[in-house]
Amino acid sequence: MAGILFIISAPSGSGKSTLVNEVRRLVEGLDFSISYTTREPRGSEEDGREYHFTTRENFRAMIDRGEFLEWAEVFGNYYGTALAALDHARELGRDLLLDIDVQGALQVMTKMPGAVSIFILPPSPQVLERRLRNRSQAEGVTQEAIIERRLSQARLELLNLHRYSYALVNDDLDTAASEMRGIVLTERGAGAAQERTAAHNCRSDSRSAALTAALGHFEVEVADVTRYARRS
Ligand code: ADP
Ligand code: 5GP
Repeated sequence: MAGILFIISAPSGSGKSTLVNEVRRLVEGLDFSISYTTREPRGSEEDGREYHFTTRENFRAMIDRGEFLEWAEVFGNYYGTALAALDHARELGRDLLLDIDVQGALQVMTKMPGAVSIFILPPSPQVLERRLRNRSQAEGVTQEAIIERRLSQARLELLNLHRYSYALVNDDLDTAASEMRGIVLTERGAGAAQERTAAHNCRSDSRSAALTAALGHFEVEVADVTRYARRS
């Protein structure tokens, strides 16, 4: 039986990797697709664990050979999901999580309409900035320009939120992880009432209080998102 493909996107620094690790601890049978990237390893990252780190030449050769389900240029580097990861999960009948940016997510939504998409957002730009700073301090590379770029990109990415099935605010980690677990179990048809309610409240069209508040802090009105949807 084919597994479910989960697409997860979030502005950089929202806590997506942290949340995904937590959910994989809570839920069995969720494989994670290790992307290819041309960026340099950060902090304690290891080749083949967080990413397959590669050269631009090799990445371009993989594009030419048609080896990617999707790829995109993000912050000046290439990132891509290898078709091999999808084939592998399919063979094993396992669910697969793709942690990809909005450009890549839109490609996958078109190619694989059955995929379940989840957008993770931080509760406010202030919290996002703090998380970006904490992370770069921990990694010993605070670069103002990078932080500024990621903050301004975040608001643009939020305008695509309505294209995702679910939108989850990562404020308290345990709450967000439990909501994401609810989504995964519900999509598997294995959710009890509590999980189904959690999933329902996270639907991007349900406009929960947490989602409305976060969009307000980013000064993205629900109307902005709707207007954008009508234009496209
Ligand atoms: P992303 O994968 O979205 O770029 P990370 O998972 O690297 O983000 O998280 C960015 C920073 O925010 C890290 O220092 C992480 O420990 C912290 N963080 C993640 N989620 C939370 C949360 N719910 N509350 C507080 N800090 C968080
Ligand atoms: P980071 O460099 O912070 O790990 O990731 C930067 C951005 O690239 C994040 O938004 C992340 O989701 C995205 N990303 C990681 N892997 C892929 C991928 O395979 N494809 C696409 N399109 N984006 C990716």
